[in-house]
Parts: sequence; C-alpha cells; structure tokens
Amino acid sequence: MSELLSNHTSLHIGGPAKTFVRATTEEELVNAVKAADAAGEDWDGFVAWILDKGFAGLETMSGIPGTVGGAPIQNIGAYGHEVSEVIARVRTWDRKAGAYKTFSNSECEFSYRSSVFKKNPGRYVIIDVTFQLRNGEMSLPITYKELASYLGVELEARALVSDVRKAVLALRAAKGMLLDSNDHDTWSAGSFFVNPILSAEAAAKLPADAPRWIQEDGRVKTSAAWLMEHAGVKKGQIHNGAGVSSKHVLALVNTGSATAADIVDMARLARSAVKDKFGIVLEPEVQFVGLSL
Ligand SMILES: Cc1cc2nc3c(=O)[nH]c(=O)nc-3n(C[C@H](O)[C@H](O)[C@H](O)COP(=O)(O)OP(=O)(O)OC[C@H]3O[C@@H](n4cnc5c(N)ncnc54)[C@H](O)[C@@H]3O)c2cc1C
Repeated sequence: MSELLSNHTSLHIGGPAKTFVRATTEEELVNAVKAADAAGEDWDGFVAWILDKGFAGLETMSGIPGTVGGAPIQNIGAYGHEVSEVIARVRTWDRKAGAYKTFSNSECEFSYRSSVFKKNPGRYVIIDVTFQLRNGEMSLPITYKELASYLGVELEARALVSDVRKAVLALRAAKGMLLDSNDHDTWSAGSFFVNPILSAEAAAKLPADAPRWIQEDGRVKTSAAWLMEHAGVKKGQIHNGAGVSSKHVLALVNTGSATAADIVDMARLARSAVKDKFGIVLEPEVQFVGLSL
C-alpha cells in the first residue's frame, strides 16, 4: 500500500504517493531528491534551539510550520520580518547541472514570499542554509503593530527574544496558525493568498480604512485578509468539506472531509468575492500540485 500524502500535509488531504522515501543523510538526499521535503530540519525546533543559544534574528518567525530547507523557498516571514534578512548563503544541489551550487544572499533573489528557488521549481534541492545572526538577548526591532501592542512596546523598539517568541506563539495560536491535529481551524496551508502589492494609483482607489504598507519602490502592499473580510468572506464559513478558519479569514481549512477540489472551490469563491468588490485578483501563496485555481 502506497503512503498517503494526507498523512503528511497540514490540510490532511492527499492520495497515495508514487514514491515515498525518507532520506536520513545528505548523500541519500541528493540521490533521492524527491525525498527533500521529508529529510529536513524542523524549522521551529531550529528557531527554539538557536534562540536558546543566545542568538537573535529569528524570533518573530517562531511557530512557522516546515523545515529549515523549505524556509528560503518562499522567503518565509511573519510579524514584520523575513528570513532573507538573516540568511548569508544557501547551498543547493542543482538537479539540472548535476552539481552543487551555493547562492549568496543577493543571488537568492529574495522578495516578498519569493526567491530564485521558487522561480525555478524543482531545480534546486536546498542542502543547507547559513544564517548570519546577532549575538544577544534583544530582538530585531518590533515593526508589527499587533506584536508591539501585545508586548507593550513602541514600534521599532526591541524586546527580549524570549518574550518575542512567547508573544508570537500566543498570537499565532489565537489565529489557528500553529498546527494542532485536534483543531480543524489549523487544518490549513497557512495564509492561502499573499498580500497584494498595488500600484500607487490602484491603492488610492481602496477605501480609506484599508491597510496600506508603502514599499521601497513606491507600490503599496495591502492586506488580503482585510479585502476578504470586507468582500463578505466570513470566518467560520463552510463550503462542502472546506471552509474558512473561525480564527483567521486567510486560512482556508479542511473541516474534516474536504477534498483538494473543495479547497480550490472555496478559494475561488473567496477570490471572486474580492475581485467583484475591489477589482483585485488575489494570488495564492500556496503551491498547487495537480490542480489550479
Ligand atoms: C498553519 C500554517 C501557518 C503558516 N504560517 C506561515 C507564516 O507565518 N509565514 C510564512 O512565510 N509561511 C507560513 N506558512 C507556510 C509554510 O510554513 C512555509 O512555506 C514553510 O517554509 C514550508 O516548509 P516545508 O518544509 O513544509 O515545505 P513544503 O511546504 O513541504 O514545500 C514548499 C515548497 O518548497 C519546496 N522545498 C521544501 N524543502 C525544500 C528543500 N530542502 N529544497 C528544495 N525545495 C524544497 C517544496 O518542493 C515545495 O515546492 C504556514 C503554513 C501553515 C500550514
């Protein structure tokens, strides 16, 4: 009997794998590249370990599910910081060239939820990631309003890394953004859509109270969650076996019996609602295998 992918996805969805390999050494990883996802170092275990060793820089990214090798792929980020801020280099196995290739930070072409690895799907297997972190007990500046107010500090202030980690884990738990197999609100792929980045002209057409984060190039990032909520998508809404988390509108969930097609239908409903109301097409953060939005 083939291994079911539903045993390995946070949505608890997925049929039998053609091949399932669990690699335990670097050599096995390179020889069986399909096993890359299963061979990785747990991200949050790594974050906890590194903070405990007295390094700062990863604290706001506590609790993100996944592996260290997966982290550079979409340049993971949360609560005001992205992993690209602290990556020095990434060593990969280039499947096309049949050779190892090391990328400096700038060669990784990091941007919001993207990288050279994501733009070349399946080409580079990430073998290891070198981080450049500060030694110390104070965090990176707190740039995320909700986190600053939870910690009771001013924006741009620093806090103890241990306090920041605790605060982030608490905020994530309240939004169903920590995996818990007993809680269907966490049977998600995290944020389903990325926050849209609009031209200044398009952003000017948004309602006055829509969130706006000005980007370095003058464009404006707004909140996909805000757009969905203001387009009538409701927390706790259910569509067949799929639904919207009752804790966070951006998390589309498997309520227990969803198929992948149900999740896609739910995503289409949410995307149409936002397009009809605001004329903005939400782009998925999740990657699709075997189907599309
Ligand atoms: C509840 C929940 C909350 C989340 N919150 C956040 C968040 O706050 N911020 C955020 O940025 N993301 C978030 N995510 C998304 C997810 O955690 C990240 O994308 C994470 O990096 C996935 O890591 P993974 O190892 O599980 O990769 P997978 O999801 O297994 O794979 C993602 C992609 O990376 C590729 N890949 C993985 N490892 C490697 C490797 N070693 N070499 C080459 N390619 C590889 C895979 O082939 C695939 O294309 C969340 C997800 C969930 C379920």
